[in-house]
Amino acid sequence: MSTDDKKDRLGMSSRAIHAGEPRNQYADAITTPIFQTSTFVFKNSKDIEDYTKNKKERFEYGRYGNPTELIAQKRLADLEGAEDCVVFSSGMMAITTTILSLVRTGDHIVITDDSYKKTLEFCKSYLKRFGIECTIVPFGDYDMLEAAIKENTRFIFSESPTNPYLNVFDLPLLKEIADRHGVMTLIDSTIATPINQRPLEFGIDLVTHSATKYLSGHNDILAGAVLGRSDLIAPIRSLHKSMGGLIDPHCCYLLLRGLKTFPMRVEKQNATALKVARFLEGHPDVERVYYPFLESHQHYSIAREQMKGGGCVVTFVMKGELADANRFMDCLEMILIGPSFGGAETLITHPATVSYYDYTREERYELGVIDTLFRLAVGLEEVDDIITDLDQAFKRAKK
Ligand SMILES: *Cc1c(COP(=O)(O)O)cnc(C)c1O
Repeated sequence: MSTDDKKDRLGMSSRAIHAGEPRNQYADAITTPIFQTSTFVFKNSKDIEDYTKNKKERFEYGRYGNPTELIAQKRLADLEGAEDCVVFSSGMMAITTTILSLVRTGDHIVITDDSYKKTLEFCKSYLKRFGIECTIVPFGDYDMLEAAIKENTRFIFSESPTNPYLNVFDLPLLKEIADRHGVMTLIDSTIATPINQRPLEFGIDLVTHSATKYLSGHNDILAGAVLGRSDLIAPIRSLHKSMGGLIDPHCCYLLLRGLKTFPMRVEKQNATALKVARFLEGHPDVERVYYPFLESHQHYSIAREQMKGGGCVVTFVMKGELADANRFMDCLEMILIGPSFGGAETLITHPATVSYYDYTREERYELGVIDTLFRLAVGLEEVDDIITDLDQAFKRAKK
């Protein structure tokens, strides 16, 4: 039995540590070496011929591949249950390179409105310049989604769960609709991670991740990935070599290092977030809580069916006005104010004054970004300390 066969039988936590690691190849080091090199040299003309004519696999130039990067790609593919993976310098680089590799002038794409702001902007504004039409459909309206599909539709793109309301896409239904019309499906699975959801198992064609979030998990790097069948990944990898959105080897090492604790981090964050969500739901100063594993969430049953855990993001609406929201934030002691999620530190964001500060109140409200909306991303601290901090901030905010 080959090592890879044995590895197939390992659980997620073991695979997060061992998958893709040719450990005894490099000076018997236990950790993955950082190949801080831009170029790889040939020994002689025979070596060149083996590479060019005989198609021997090896490294040539940094933009075409690096061993540290290759190990990260193998490990991520293993965790997501994908045949192949490309790692990028950021989540947006993964999304934009993937989309560009799929479309040509005259094509049409469908994307749901509950998508990452920069993904929507790219599809709406930039693709238009190249004659690629984009229809944005309301998340969860499957009739409108199906009606939006045209003869030239190349793919349907959505996030699941979404940000900040954690809406969950019915993946089997998406697959059914897409198959009826012969279009591809892409899911940005960043908020779920391969621990909580594996879209490829539902027949989704390509999965993207911002590895900046849970996969690296320490709020210290930006990275992205796309995963799927080898024949679908090949053209993306090819374009990646031209676009050049490479992850650097040191950054890639940090991703691999983060991945070793990724399953246990997510398991803990699932448990912490559910407790915090229940606490918030029972709190007199809280109007509403959005968490996919709370019975009150509109997609609770879909979430329970296709996800293993609810993840670390808990969204809530505080009672009161903008001034109350600001006072509440100012009273937090341990919880830090900042974007992102999936890291060790618990973070809170106030979309009304940060991501949507340049929108009018009406525009924000149309998007559901109301004055007292908060997105809490639980970290790895003790759950009781997170709850205590929230509770004291609610109390002091009232004074
Ligand atoms: C953060 C994020 C992105 C963008 O990823 P970067 O690594 O910041 O480029 C895309 N989609 C989702 C759902 C995200 O949370």
